[in-house]
Amino acid sequence: MKIAEIRTHLLCHKLDVPFHSSFSTFTERWACLVEITCDDGTTGWGECLGPARPNAAIVQAMAPLLIGRDPLQIEPIWTHLYNQFRDQGQRGLTVTAQSGIDIALWDIAGHHFGMPVHVLAGGAYRSSVPAYATGGFMQEGRDRVAALADELAAYAAAGFTAAKIKIGYGHDLDVAAVRAARQVLGPDRALMIDANHGYDAVDAIRLGRAVADQDIDWFEEPVVPEQLDAYVQVRRGQPIPVAGGETWHTRTAHAQALNARAVDILQPDVAGCGGITEMRKIAAMAETAGVRVVPHVWGTGVHVAASLQMLTILPPSPQRHAPSDPWLEFDQTDNPFRMAILKTPIACQNGRVAIPDAPGLGVDIDRDALTEWRAPDPQ
Ligand code: CA
Repeated sequence: MKIAEIRTHLLCHKLDVPFHSSFSTFTERWACLVEITCDDGTTGWGECLGPARPNAAIVQAMAPLLIGRDPLQIEPIWTHLYNQFRDQGQRGLTVTAQSGIDIALWDIAGHHFGMPVHVLAGGAYRSSVPAYATGGFMQEGRDRVAALADELAAYAAAGFTAAKIKIGYGHDLDVAAVRAARQVLGPDRALMIDANHGYDAVDAIRLGRAVADQDIDWFEEPVVPEQLDAYVQVRRGQPIPVAGGETWHTRTAHAQALNARAVDILQPDVAGCGGITEMRKIAAMAETAGVRVVPHVWGTGVHVAASLQMLTILPPSPQRHAPSDPWLEFDQTDNPFRMAILKTPIACQNGRVAIPDAPGLGVDIDRDALTEWRAPDPQ
């Protein structure tokens, strides 16, 4: 079996109602899927985190290094690709592009051997995981607190037992939003907050102290990812556990964060950190350091499926009779193609999501949906 073709599929949808994180505005949803086909017809799918067109361009730049190779040589291929792009590519889009390729190779291996990725990787610790709803962005044209309360009530009604909201819009508004969120969710559902690095350490410590009585599971990306010292400062200065990792690429960046004790919870993204190959190594380092892993997920059903394969191979932490399972981050914001591209959408039932156990990533792609949501050609 040899790699014969690498295709990228760009998906795009223009939102009716734009929404804002602390620093960016979403007017469209995009995705970059990677499809690798072998000479015997075996096909694998992957996805790249981040800007879709640049990811697709880099995947295509890497394609000549893949054509003709045995797709089962996943580790040697990873090392070769990384080494060829290393001088200008240790972090950022080169790694996110390589992540999509790596996920597709694992999918191919699963189809080739007729096994799910988690079996190839050594076996599953769990058959389902709890899911938390990600949302709570600032919606354009609506009162912040009223819109947030409506959104969270809908997640609770849908069976979610946890939700993560966005902050970073200003101290007073953030405090009001967190308190409203806790009131809507009640005392028994988990609540997390995510600043998308919209604070500096001073503001983050002030916010963390102000909402410390709201029983928050974690405070995500309080400060910019380059400043590990500021992460440490936030950990020391306020009582909420600190999370981060979605913008740290490869085991090198994650090792630096772990060595600095920058976070209580590490959040590598399988479609961004270097794929399944690299995330297994990151997970092993986190286990060694005694740091929890809760993967970051922001993409289509392919990204969710790859993340579920990772979630089931994360070792129990801590190891006891009733360990807590790692959460699946389940984006609930407006994205009509998120699950439409799967023949069988991945769904949350009673607060949990089952781990697919079909070969590879365990999902089938609906090609009609790829056509329906295909991005326009560049102008
Ligand atoms: Ca985040």
